[in-house]
Amino acid sequence: MKKILIATLMILLFMSFPFPASAEETGKSDEAKQERMALYKKTAAATGLPWYYLAAIDQYEHNLPNQSKEEKLIAIEIPEEKWFGAAKHGEDANESSILWFNGLGRDGNGDKLAEPENPEDVLYTIASFIQKTGTTKNDIKIALWHYYERDLTVQTIMNTAKLYEKFGTIELDERSFPLPLHHNYSYRNTWGDARGFGGRRIHEGTDIFANYGVPVYATTYGVIELKGWNLYGGWRIGLRDSNNIYHYYAHLNGFEKGVSVGDVVKPGDVIGYVGASGYGPPGTSGKFPPHLHYGMYKDNGRSEFSFDPYPYLKIWEQKSKQQKKEG
Ligand SMILES: [Zn+2]
Repeated sequence: MKKILIATLMILLFMSFPFPASAEETGKSDEAKQERMALYKKTAAATGLPWYYLAAIDQYEHNLPNQSKEEKLIAIEIPEEKWFGAAKHGEDANESSILWFNGLGRDGNGDKLAEPENPEDVLYTIASFIQKTGTTKNDIKIALWHYYERDLTVQTIMNTAKLYEKFGTIELDERSFPLPLHHNYSYRNTWGDARGFGGRRIHEGTDIFANYGVPVYATTYGVIELKGWNLYGGWRIGLRDSNNIYHYYAHLNGFEKGVSVGDVVKPGDVIGYVGASGYGPPGTSGKFPPHLHYGMYKDNGRSEFSFDPYPYLKIWEQKSKQQKKEG
């Protein structure tokens, strides 16, 4: 009975899942991306804020759930009460009256109106708000905290900006399978299986069985967010990509030399090695066969939830195989 209940819950969870397995690969059209980029750069020039911070804020909001962002050039949604200030409702979008009522809304396209549905106005408004604090990295961080009042949100935006700055583009959709294809490995879908250790927790990830010491790759462009020991995970490392997704690697033998928290990685970068660490105090190893535990967590702006990485691993494995054939 319990099993059926859990299975039903899993199916419901899967059905309500906010993005299909291929969503990561689709994204917006190239034309829309170019248009977005042009607007980031225009607004950057007008405000003195580097374009990659504006792009990172937009990207962060683009990945929040329940947004009607499909046709919108800029996904940032500034709440009405913030936009219009004490005037509250958007009867009067005159920039001068919004200023009078201490609203944030600003006119970015020169028509004297600050309209919350106009992408140029929206981007210029958020940039103007941040610019009031300053344009250094630290100023921007402080301004983001005042705006979002959430540590993970600020960290994700700052890290995404770091990625955009480093690679000079917002197109970071390439992915890699976490292990080299020429090594022996095996995995199956174990999402939601019960597990013995640590009480009644379900298995939140995919176990990829391989030998000790097989290199472990970054699957995505991202920033290392965590590294160290954990009772269940052993030596584990985690990185976040620009889609607000946290990628978690556990039971490692060890880490790649020089990899530390805050580092930028790209698909295929070695970050660690397969092992069997965990289920005890630091250094415990060999309580189970060596494998990589791979987990994925989505941040929805309020909390993080795990979802099944198996379909993604299948796609990345397929793509890596194709590339190998072609290359
Ligand atoms: Zn596992």
